[in-house]
This record gives sequence, structure tokens and C-alpha cells, in this order.
Amino acid sequence: MGSVSIPEITISDPCRKFMMDTLVWDNHQCMPLRPDDESFLPQLERCKATGVDVVSLNVSFDVIPWESGIKLLATMRRWLKQRPDQYLLVERPEDILRARVEDKLAVTFDIEGGLALDEHLPMVQLYYDLGVRWMLLAYNRNNALAGGCHDKPQGLTEFGRRVVAEMERVGMVVCCSHTSYTAVMDIMEMATKPVIFSHSNPAAIKNHYRNVPDDAIRACARSGGVMCLSGIGHFMGDNDDRTETMVQHIDYVAELVGVDHVGFGTDYVWDQQEVNDFLQQNPDVFGDEMRGQPLKMFKPDQFAEVVEELLKKNYSETDVRKIMGENLLRVAKQVWK
Ligand SMILES: [Zn+2]
Repeated sequence: MGSVSIPEITISDPCRKFMMDTLVWDNHQCMPLRPDDESFLPQLERCKATGVDVVSLNVSFDVIPWESGIKLLATMRRWLKQRPDQYLLVERPEDILRARVEDKLAVTFDIEGGLALDEHLPMVQLYYDLGVRWMLLAYNRNNALAGGCHDKPQGLTEFGRRVVAEMERVGMVVCCSHTSYTAVMDIMEMATKPVIFSHSNPAAIKNHYRNVPDDAIRACARSGGVMCLSGIGHFMGDNDDRTETMVQHIDYVAELVGVDHVGFGTDYVWDQQEVNDFLQQNPDVFGDEMRGQPLKMFKPDQFAEVVEELLKKNYSETDVRKIMGENLLRVAKQVWK
């Protein structure tokens, strides 16, 4: 089973033991989106040392050319396959448990925005075959598939509907983060399988265009999906990355829709310079408030603190395990092919 050695955080022995036999799934982290740069990938070892068993790595978003995502998949898959003792490229839900037994980090990929399809529907299957296990349709701005959450109101387009149906057919989980409220509700209405928010926070705690109103969280839960909480400071609060704030977000969603629908997609960015550059250079995509002071982020190291806090509160061990990863495993079993 996984080893847990976290340099910056002091955790109690019972919590360390609990972490070791608990599946920890972070449904969204970001390595540099530069296909020619492998220099950050060894940090995945550190990701694993925090207790994370499964990580979904971002390979593309609507702001960069779609070809770059294919190249990045090639780079990452090649790098991971060269290290079979440490990493496992996930294909099926059973691979998650196998990776834990073999003490490897299980890796999946994700795409933020349907521009990655280049308006070509069969790309959905190609990405799935390359390990992409969730995709969201529009990244902040409207595109050919759907409305984004930081643009004029727009729902799901005809092409967007075809993409949702194709994703369900091939086994790719449909994500509604970054998507407009109207498009989210359109997706929830047509979905026949669990829909997730891969990295979002409740708007009731922090009113932000990226955050999600209660009725959309309820619709996600009704679909059988999971609201994976992001650790981005501006979505959690006033550039607030504290563990206690993350626990407040967990409490809120658990009270609203139940512990079966809470998970994590921290959005932790390993190359902090890259994210701050993106924010400075693309004000039309991110808005002005995201510029200025450097972005704070909840770090994977803090998962152990979250576990400690939840166990101190009224969460049962079973509930904590669901939140840390088993809810996402349930979705994978229901959706992946
Ligand atoms: Zn994102």
C-alpha cells in the first residue's frame, strides 16, 4: 500500500495510518502545458508522497492550440511508460486498485474545453483511448460546444449535444466546471450517466463566476456525480488556501447533497510561474480580479490535514473514505468502458 511521507505537514500516527489505507484521488492537477518540457514531471513522485493514489493531469484547455494537447499526451505517456515501477497509466477502474497494491501512482488525463476536438467528433474516442477520462465542454468563454461561465449566456449547442452523447458512449466522464449555468443545466437534463464538477466550489460560500450555485450542485448529485472541490484561493475565498477553508467547503456540499457527492480536484499547478503568466496574459479569459497578487493554492500536502480535521468532526471513517476517493471510483465504475 502507498507510503505517506509529507515533509511540510505534521500529522498524527493514526491519521498517517488511515491515509495509507484510504484511496486518495485528486481529479485535477496541472503539470506545465509545454510538450517539450519534462523538467517538472519528476514532481509526481512528490505528489505520490503526499498520499495521493490517483491523479488526473490536465493536457489541454481552450486557450492553447489543440495540437499541443496531443503532443503533451505523447510526452507524458512516454515519460510515464519509461517508469513502470513508479507509475501506472490507467485504463480501467480495476487499474486503480492494482496501482495501490503495487505502490504506484495511477495517472489519468483530462481536457478543459472542447476546442481540443477541432470540431471533429471522433476525437472523443481517440482522447479516451489515450487515457483522457473527463472533459469539460467550454473553458470560461463560449465555444462551438457550449457557453462558458465568463461570457454572454449560452447553452449547449447542437454539436455540444452530440459531444455529450459521444462522451457517454465511449465512457468519458462529462464535466461541467468552467461551463455556463445554462449549459450546465442543459447537460444535466440530457445526461444519462453521472456528471461531475471536476474542480469547482460552491457559489454560496464564495460568489465567483467559476463557482456553482446550489441547484446545479443538486443536479450533479441527482445524476450520481461528484462535486470535486478546487483548491484555488480565489474560488475558496479571498485568495484563501487554508485547510480549514477546504473543510468548510466539504461541510457545505456534504450538508447540501450528502457525502456521496463530494470529492477533490485541487487544480494544483506545479509550475506556479506558468499559471501566473497565463492569468496576466489572458484577462479576457480569466477577468481582472485573478491578476495582481500571486494565486494561492491548496497543496496536495494538505490532504492529510483535511483527513485529520474530518475525523475530528462528525464524519465516520466510511464517509471520509468516500470523500477522499471512493466516490470518484464509483463514478469511474459507472461511466468508464
Ligand atoms: Zn480549470
